[in-house]
Amino acid sequence: MMRKTFLLVCLLLGVSAAGFGWGFFGHKVIQQLAIYGLPKGMQPFYHRHMAYLVDKSVRPDERRNTDPAEAPRHYIDVDVYGEKAVYEMPESWGPAVAKYSADTLRKYGVVPWQVMVMKERLTRVFREKNADSILFYSADLAHYVQDAHVPLHTTVNHDGQLTGQTGLHSLWESKLPERHLATYRLQHGKARYLQNPEHEIWEVVRASHRLVPELLAQEKLVSQDFTDQTKYILTERNGHTRRSYTDAFATAYQKALGTTVEDRMRAAAAQTASFWYTCWVDGGKPDLAALLSTPRTKAEHKQLKRERNAWKKGRLQEKDLLLTRSR
Ligand SMILES: [Zn+2]
Repeated sequence: MMRKTFLLVCLLLGVSAAGFGWGFFGHKVIQQLAIYGLPKGMQPFYHRHMAYLVDKSVRPDERRNTDPAEAPRHYIDVDVYGEKAVYEMPESWGPAVAKYSADTLRKYGVVPWQVMVMKERLTRVFREKNADSILFYSADLAHYVQDAHVPLHTTVNHDGQLTGQTGLHSLWESKLPERHLATYRLQHGKARYLQNPEHEIWEVVRASHRLVPELLAQEKLVSQDFTDQTKYILTERNGHTRRSYTDAFATAYQKALGTTVEDRMRAAAAQTASFWYTCWVDGGKPDLAALLSTPRTKAEHKQLKRERNAWKKGRLQEKDLLLTRSR
């Protein structure tokens, strides 16, 4: 019954395509952090191209404006298939298509399979030792891996629109990290080799999905201390009135969530590094130093060391070493 209601409301509102995933700020921060988790054989190459990778971390979102097929690659509304579907759906594309049809899967989002498509492409261009393509697909693969870490990218109620909490999407993934990054612990572990990347990305989707009920419940709880006037701010854009959460509400909600947002950011950075590393290993571990157009300089070596140390101590932002700034 619940599921049918969800589907109906979803169809009526035509809402499946909204939502961007981490916001531009979040993606850019996560992309930079991921580089610090790479092994020695990869890190200098990725660090040389850090500005490109950070900048292009949001390219798949920008592509949505011109390519109608792009939007469903960023999420999976997994609850439309049933309450336990996130645990029971076939992980591989073929069996999932056999069960639900490709059209249905595309309609409700394909992020885990998009990650696998990009994983194969990045592995291939490592094998071909093509520096430009390695950078291109590293940026794209990373984006989808990171989107899968956003809880609201795994539910049809992706903006809280089905539970009277419209606007929750950008509050959680944009406003909170932009306002509170300085308090987040963002040091993650080293890149791991992923024996089964498809299963790994599904585990990411499951972990994200498990956070959804809590995230909705905390919004309701925090709302008890607010009135509509203190909770929302109205802004006019192109003749439309848009309602979003106030700074005061964001602060209270961040407090109520504890470390949830930073935990997902950290996990996204670690998993981005692990996917890059796995593609490099599967692509035959090409010598990336040989793919640099000019040899690495002492200054680059020193700079990377400085950033890594600041990252380990949680002082990247304090030392003004983040390439992207919140405001
Ligand atoms: Zn996205």
